Amino acid sequence: MKKLKIAIQKKGRLNDNSHRLLEECGIKFSNGISVLKTSARNFPVEILFLRDDDIPQYVEQQVVDIGILGENVVFEKNKDIAILEQLGFAHCRLSLAIPKEDSYDGPEYFMNKRIATSYPGLLSEYLKKEGITAEIEELSGSVEIAPGIGLADAICDIVSSGSTLMTNGLREVKTILKSQAVIIGNKYLSEEKMLILERLLFRIRSVKSAKENKYILLNAPESAVPEISRILPGMKSPTILPLAEKGWCSLHSVVQEDEFWERIDQLRKAGAEGILVIPIEKMIL
Ligand code: ATP
Ligand code: MG
Repeated sequence: MKKLKIAIQKKGRLNDNSHRLLEECGIKFSNGISVLKTSARNFPVEILFLRDDDIPQYVEQQVVDIGILGENVVFEKNKDIAILEQLGFAHCRLSLAIPKEDSYDGPEYFMNKRIATSYPGLLSEYLKKEGITAEIEELSGSVEIAPGIGLADAICDIVSSGSTLMTNGLREVKTILKSQAVIIGNKYLSEEKMLILERLLFRIRSVKSAKENKYILLNAPESAVPEISRILPGMKSPTILPLAEKGWCSLHSVVQEDEFWERIDQLRKAGAEGILVIPIEKMIL
């Protein structure tokens, strides 16, 4: 049987999460510290460990069928591939930063300046949109030190907390792209590979939904059940079980992580007590 070839980052910020995601999908394989590729023991996939920059090109050329990497690299490389799913990790942004003592009142700041970046494609697209002419100094890494050593006036780089910028005396002034990890795929996969891909995407979506939701159990007086069911509709409707104490019941449901605290406040007001919240491992919709 044909195997679906998946590229993940060999070493770096995406490696752990990519590995974990595949494992949570029940795909077992050994890590690629010393190997370039490995086969999963229990699913028809082959995993290749590559530099993230190379993945879009390899997916386009069908050296691999799909790959996991940041949207920042996908958009920078601008290859003819499909984005199949956002994965909810490696959140970061591509931003312009300037020496922190400089004042900034808009993109005109960058007029005729030198900007260091590993993202010349995305940066020049942004500058063009704003009608700014600037010199782009392409660097493959350690971009944040460029202004300090006189190589550039400003930078355009990946930021998450901003602490690297701060240590280098820089200040973020404009975000040009928000990014997270995604799965990309070749647009012309064979039917056999498409079937494997669909099985994999189904598992990935189940893992993602599980992470985005929590299982919630609570006790409430029977009179509060209609109001609580309205607050917690769950996947279909909540499960309601009687408690040994007369007039009380236990209610079980699912709540979205991002609405969680708001719902808890509403539930307490409605009369809920003894609220337990439990992580969900897989959620099949
Ligand atoms: P490679 O050797 O594979 O080319 P790299 O050095 O280019 O690796 P990493 O620093 O490992 O890349 O980052 C990989 C991806 O992780 C980035 O392209 C981006 O999508 C994301 N990322 C980078 N920095 C952060 C951060 N601080 N927080 C969260 N995600 C980040
Ligand atoms: Mg890279």
